[in-house]
Amino acid sequence: MTVDLSALTAPEIRAAILRGDLSAREVADGAFARIEACDDRVRAFNEVTRELAYASADRVDDMVRSGASPEELPPLAGVPVAFKDNMNLIGTRTTCSSRILANHESVYDCTAVARLIKAGGVPVGKLNMDEFAFGSSTENSAFGPTHNPWDLERVPGGSSGGSAAAVSAGMATITLGSDTGGSIRQPGAFCGVVAMKPTYGRVSRYGCVAFASSLDQIGPFSKSVEECALALNAICGKDPMDATSVDRPHEDFTRDLERGASGLRIGVVTDMLDMEGVAPEVKSATMAAAELFAALGAEVGEVELPSARYGLSAYYIIGPAEASSNLARFDGIRYGHRVADAKDVLDLYMRSRAEGFGPEAIRRIMLGTYALSAGYYDAYYGQAQKARTVIIRDFERAFADHDVLLTPTSPTTAFRIGEKSADPLAMYLSDVYTIPVNLAGNCAVSVPVGLGDDSELPVGIQLIGTHFAEGVVLRAARALERAVAFDVTPPLVRELQARA
Ligand code: GLN
Repeated sequence: MTVDLSALTAPEIRAAILRGDLSAREVADGAFARIEACDDRVRAFNEVTRELAYASADRVDDMVRSGASPEELPPLAGVPVAFKDNMNLIGTRTTCSSRILANHESVYDCTAVARLIKAGGVPVGKLNMDEFAFGSSTENSAFGPTHNPWDLERVPGGSSGGSAAAVSAGMATITLGSDTGGSIRQPGAFCGVVAMKPTYGRVSRYGCVAFASSLDQIGPFSKSVEECALALNAICGKDPMDATSVDRPHEDFTRDLERGASGLRIGVVTDMLDMEGVAPEVKSATMAAAELFAALGAEVGEVELPSARYGLSAYYIIGPAEASSNLARFDGIRYGHRVADAKDVLDLYMRSRAEGFGPEAIRRIMLGTYALSAGYYDAYYGQAQKARTVIIRDFERAFADHDVLLTPTSPTTAFRIGEKSADPLAMYLSDVYTIPVNLAGNCAVSVPVGLGDDSELPVGIQLIGTHFAEGVVLRAARALERAVAFDVTPPLVRELQARA
């Protein structure tokens, strides 16, 4: 019998292993069978890690065989997990889907990755992404795009497109992505899965290749809110290797999940709903979600974030500025691709970088170095930092009398592969709703609420909380998830299930 990951949640997998109904090895084989059945079409994986998976699975099976009690068996025992390919894991390459790191072997473990494995996760592979996390469609990968399991002609979103598609297609149960301006939430919305960006500092960034250090945060993808909470439980917490990780008392994020929405003060961010480029089906799904919350007993009101619309402009200065500095280390000497026949050291730098980086990485580096250059620094970088402060204040005002803010996750559903790749500005618009959250360091989750009336593709709703309010955000997300009762199984999986 082949285990179907689309039919099991993480707690169900653990319980079945504990009862002896399944072994962790059989569950891992279920992941590999699905990968074999569809990843030639989805292309979510850069690398499949059978040996690592079996080593972890065998540890779990040995524990069960030697009579481990329910308390002793770790919370995600035997659960197939996979990681965006910008996270280091010894025994794998960490390529960032870039030619410049195509053969880079991990020499240490990313903290969040190590914690998920320590919690019992079975690592099945590394996942495709936009090169260095620059993008919203996974089309900027040097290894070719990932395809959306809901419609293989469409993008899965990005930059963590592989992480979203792998969960959607049942090739892994929980995956990790990174989110600098929306790269967890937007692909979560496009692929119809739950996807969370935790508060800045909640999860260690150690071992995740940096894009923009003041914005980056690692977070989970899963089919359900409960699994998202379990994954966050496993990965969060202070890490001596990341000075920006925050020391907070332990919280169990599953604790309040079933408390319902009654009494929650929810603010619909109305001034951002009428922006140009917002699909009518996304707007109507957002209003429907707000009405559902009201019906569940939440206090639903309107709120404005007047400066959030400047988030995109500020982000495309601050993000590239930090990226240009972070990417300076890829110089052909210390890491990655090096030209064979350099004339001198400058020639080596210039040609190794020109050959190694793709067009979007080059664009970001140029934007960033320009914005930081003497004479332009105040006009661009300084101004963008001021805009960031104004956005932070907007959020503080909004959270003074709201527990959760509600917006769409992205203005449209998944677009066609190739549709926006020639127009970087149109692509950048995918993140209008998500970027302000990174600039302010808040937490937010994208919850799939159904298929759009026109596109018949998944629509995601973003629920935003203030700093360290993951508990209340997940509680609201769970209430919404239960009320919409959306079946997250994509057509590709139904087709495979019908054949089995
Ligand atoms: N799409 C945005 C960008 O291209 C956000 C990417 C991210 O969050 N890593 O920068």
